[in-house]
Amino acid sequence: MEKVAALCKRRGFIYAGSEIYGGVANTYDYGPMGAELLRNIRNLWWNNFVHGRDDVVGLDASLISSHKIWDASGHTAGFSDAMVDCKNCKGRYRADHVIEDHFAKKGTEQNVEGLTPEEFKKIMVDEKIKCAKCGKIDWTDVRKFNLLFPVHLGIVEGDQSLAYLRGETAQGIFVNFKNVVDSTRVKLPFGIAQLGKSFRNEITLGNSIFRTIEFEQGEIEYFFDPDKTNWEEIFNGFKDSMWDFAVNKLGVNADNLRWRVHSDDERSFYSKRTEDLEYNYPFGGFKELWGLAYRTDYDLNQHIKHSGKDLSILDTQTNKKVVPHVIEPAVGINRLMLMTLCDAYTEEGERSFLKLKPSLAPYRAAVFPLLANKPELVEKAREIYKTLQKDFRVAWDDRGNIGKRYASQDEIGTPYCITIDFDTLEKDQKVTIRFRDSAAQERIAIDQIKDYLIQNT
Ligand code: ATP
Repeated sequence: MEKVAALCKRRGFIYAGSEIYGGVANTYDYGPMGAELLRNIRNLWWNNFVHGRDDVVGLDASLISSHKIWDASGHTAGFSDAMVDCKNCKGRYRADHVIEDHFAKKGTEQNVEGLTPEEFKKIMVDEKIKCAKCGKIDWTDVRKFNLLFPVHLGIVEGDQSLAYLRGETAQGIFVNFKNVVDSTRVKLPFGIAQLGKSFRNEITLGNSIFRTIEFEQGEIEYFFDPDKTNWEEIFNGFKDSMWDFAVNKLGVNADNLRWRVHSDDERSFYSKRTEDLEYNYPFGGFKELWGLAYRTDYDLNQHIKHSGKDLSILDTQTNKKVVPHVIEPAVGINRLMLMTLCDAYTEEGERSFLKLKPSLAPYRAAVFPLLANKPELVEKAREIYKTLQKDFRVAWDDRGNIGKRYASQDEIGTPYCITIDFDTLEKDQKVTIRFRDSAAQERIAIDQIKDYLIQNT
């Protein structure tokens, strides 16, 4: 992980947030390469789960929303983590993580879902769990804290002006359910998808962008009538498309993925089934990448109760009103990016490179003139670069020697480097194309480059 993190900093993928002012814990900024990779993953998700399907429409709800939404969803009362501090070194932890890590080291599992602060503390005392940083056993009491970020709107103090930064994109979908039904031609079963930032006051540090206080989510709420549609078919259909997305669209090694079914104690009380797609991250092994939950009609019913609005949908065949059930696949786009980077990181001898799928890489190709001080080479290379730029994102590099240029393109995952040399001008109108993964080289005709890049995605 250290190597991946160092590469991400060195090559402009990920920087610590507010770095020149000492940083803000759990925030990160995405550099020129990171912005491109994140954008490619985000677009791929949207193309795959919205544009690629006939039964899903998109939505873009606001980040700031009424506190009433979060009261109804149960987040203001229940969206909390338990926190504990080490009195000796002032280390701050999530109590569930401290206990889970302790039992994982012992080779057993401990379910910590739904425990009270007192129960957390008792386990920590009984098990004599030491602080991971200083090794002392000197814990404060365990306290609950809410993960939502409050925002105070306007100049009027008091309840009316209280809002929250959204803690998930899902609620924006539920509260707009009726708007979408009334303003479009959707018919059950159908999904509403949303891609955008969510905010959670996370206290756990480390592991790069795995857990941050501001992150991008891709969520779909898939609505259906349980009397007419078999939920298991929808559930398994999403399982297949999530797996396919990770393996075939993001190019991740399937051996690093697995499904984990939530136990009865772990699952939310309203959920009939929840499974996590987990990825084997280089820190701490398999961890949640993507959640899939059958949430029944819980959320819509909560909003019906709290808003007093009718959020049911009329079944025109039976003339009956239905409050649909929902299945929700929810993923962090940043977690997808971290997985993609970890999986792509490859070392071979002296060489380190990112084995990204060409369609994901920040640049599809790089163009070099063999020598920067020969105007005729630069001119031809520039012409090819400008032509390719119309269809692809391409890099230009004329610094240093070719070896250095290859090394830097390898580390940002550019799959093809195209060099213009004297033979190009004088002999064959061909260029040398060099492949990132094998480092092998081939000559191809200038007018074939575009087709070549299109065919090899
Ligand atoms: P975790 O157990 O890791 O805190 P969660 O079960 O609370 O996650 P969900 O509420 O189901 O997560 O959110 C759906 C997805 O959003 C997760 O699978 C994950 O990919 C992503 N996600 C959640 N919290 C964060 C975060 N703080 N930073 C980055 N991604 C996150």
